[in-house]
Amino acid sequence: MTETGSRRSLPPAKKGPPTKDEEKKKRRLNEPSKHFDSRDRHGLRDDEEGFHRRKFKSHTHKSHFEEEILRPKSIAVTLPISVKDLASEMKLKAVDVISKLLTHGIKCMLNDPLDDEVVVQLVGQDFGCEITIDTSKQDRLDITGKSILEEIAGTDPSQLVLRPPVVTFMGHVDHGKTSLIDALRKSNLASKEAGAITQHIGAFSCQTPNGDITILDTPGHEAFTTIRSRGASVTDIVVLVVAGDEGFKVQTEEAIRIAKEAKLPMIFAINKMDKEGFDPEKVYRQMSDRDLLPEAWGGEIPTVNCSALNGQGISELSELLALQSEILELKANPESRARGTVLESQIIKGLGPSATLLIQNGTLRISDAIVFGEAYARVKTIQDEHGKQLKSAGPSHAVRVTGLSDVPSSGSDFIVVKSEKEARKITEQREAESRKNRLRKQSFNLGSMLQANAARQEKKIFNVIVKADVQGSLEAIKDSLLKIPTQKVLIQFVSEGLGMITLTDAELAMTSNAVIFGFHTKTDKTIESFIRTHKISIHHHDVIYHLVDDAKELMTQLLDKLRVENEMAEIEVRATFKASNLGVIAGCMVTSGTAKRSHIAKVYRGTELVFEGEIQSLKRVKEDVKEVQKGLECGVLLKGFNDVQVGDVIKTFEVQYIQQEL
Ligand code: GDP
Repeated sequence: MTETGSRRSLPPAKKGPPTKDEEKKKRRLNEPSKHFDSRDRHGLRDDEEGFHRRKFKSHTHKSHFEEEILRPKSIAVTLPISVKDLASEMKLKAVDVISKLLTHGIKCMLNDPLDDEVVVQLVGQDFGCEITIDTSKQDRLDITGKSILEEIAGTDPSQLVLRPPVVTFMGHVDHGKTSLIDALRKSNLASKEAGAITQHIGAFSCQTPNGDITILDTPGHEAFTTIRSRGASVTDIVVLVVAGDEGFKVQTEEAIRIAKEAKLPMIFAINKMDKEGFDPEKVYRQMSDRDLLPEAWGGEIPTVNCSALNGQGISELSELLALQSEILELKANPESRARGTVLESQIIKGLGPSATLLIQNGTLRISDAIVFGEAYARVKTIQDEHGKQLKSAGPSHAVRVTGLSDVPSSGSDFIVVKSEKEARKITEQREAESRKNRLRKQSFNLGSMLQANAARQEKKIFNVIVKADVQGSLEAIKDSLLKIPTQKVLIQFVSEGLGMITLTDAELAMTSNAVIFGFHTKTDKTIESFIRTHKISIHHHDVIYHLVDDAKELMTQLLDKLRVENEMAEIEVRATFKASNLGVIAGCMVTSGTAKRSHIAKVYRGTELVFEGEIQSLKRVKEDVKEVQKGLECGVLLKGFNDVQVGDVIKTFEVQYIQQEL
């Protein structure tokens, strides 16, 4: 990477034996202790040793030597680069680079990353070094610039074959998404034949008389949008589930919006046809109102009336899906190296990290080397949803693989590369890049971080620990929690992970005063007494929507109640009496409202507020009373205030504490 300038090369060798001077110079150059090293770069060597001792005595020799030996004329670097590394590349001391940056008004430390091309090149110029920015590494990290769709579009059509559609179920909570998926799973010819029990791996293949379909079996919008937010698109058709007895609800609208945004074809499954009050016409009307004219009304959107409970309409639904797939002409190249998206990932006891992969192009085989976002694998096992071991899997199939270096995030893409070595190398480089990026974000956000800190003091912090069954849910939960709209509470994820809620989580919750959310998971039974003793707050949920509502409630409880004062009465002070043992009593008349002893009092002299505090006693004639109504006289003793004067006006207030909204 480092290209040295011509000044660095020694003069051309003369023929014949070396002169005494040349011998001496050569000896000096070979002395190891005098080489420029990291201590020089960081300015850690004292003047007496090393770097400075390399200088020649004669002045001309000195500058000649330094320039000749030490400074490259041009270098190529990848951004961001730390000040330390930049100095090292230019064979300079970091302090020199730091002070040069300072002259340009940039204040930084040894490990601070620089990612501005112009700044880096400017520093280079200052030291006579031309710096080019190397992007080849980035290109390599991307492996291919083509999306899966572009790759398929660029394939020779003779190599393409039809592939099953990938279907996602969306709709309002409790409208029957999970039940419909289960009904389709039960109707699966393949599993009936094999007598196999389907496991949840994130997706399954459903064989129908009209062709295969791949069904993503994690319903819900969060999981879908999390995958989409990573730029991945795994769905070909959306089944919008609407309970026919209820019609459209909030999440139905949301699902329609998501499907429209993703430009995905929709099929409406109008569910619960076995129920009283089932009214498909109402659903058609609601569809038409949103420009989704149903086929039944001469439009283009297919609908099916069904019941997940008794199986009515389920075969029609699978037929519709197969039909829609034919129209879409979904194709892929099974001969290509496999590419696709991670649907879910988890750690399996004894097998380590595993992931469910949706293969979107090509064929995945045992021993293939895969690169994920920041993990890699040499595929050890491939399993389908029945737990059957496979040697390979083709397009539109979802399989669970093991042999991974780490748990990849759901939604990240994967691609098969030449060898495991290559996969590891790319992954390591990607990791280094993302570390650098994190570093850069940290340093460049320093100013805003300080502001955030200040703001943070105004905000309540909601510390959270999330444990979920699968990575996809974990990320969907985090995303949803972060989307809770509030200016008043800051959510901090103290820890997150997959699996059971353990003692470590409970201890962490105790020290950080965090709430633990468990999603489709359990709490380790052996820690029950610890939880009771330390009052650890653990909330288990099976529906993300409910978890988010619960979090909102907890966040609301964190907010201080707002103090509201309601004016209740006005009292005029008409006389004052000194009671030797009590202080000054004001003889008053209530001129409006009803004054109560429980009220707080504010004493005004003209417009000036001269006292604010409690009413110590309220008397009618000589009796202590709780309240005095308008038009009646009373005696008022104010707690800790004896300066009350004739003509003062006492206003009384009822204080209420009301819950703030998020
Ligand atoms: P999801 O939240 O959309 O996944 O809804 P679920 O599949 O969990 O179903 C919610 C509730 O509706 C459950 O109690 C189901 O038993 C019930 N359910 C689902 N489909 C039907 C159906 O076709 N008919 C009736 N009567 N109940 C159903």
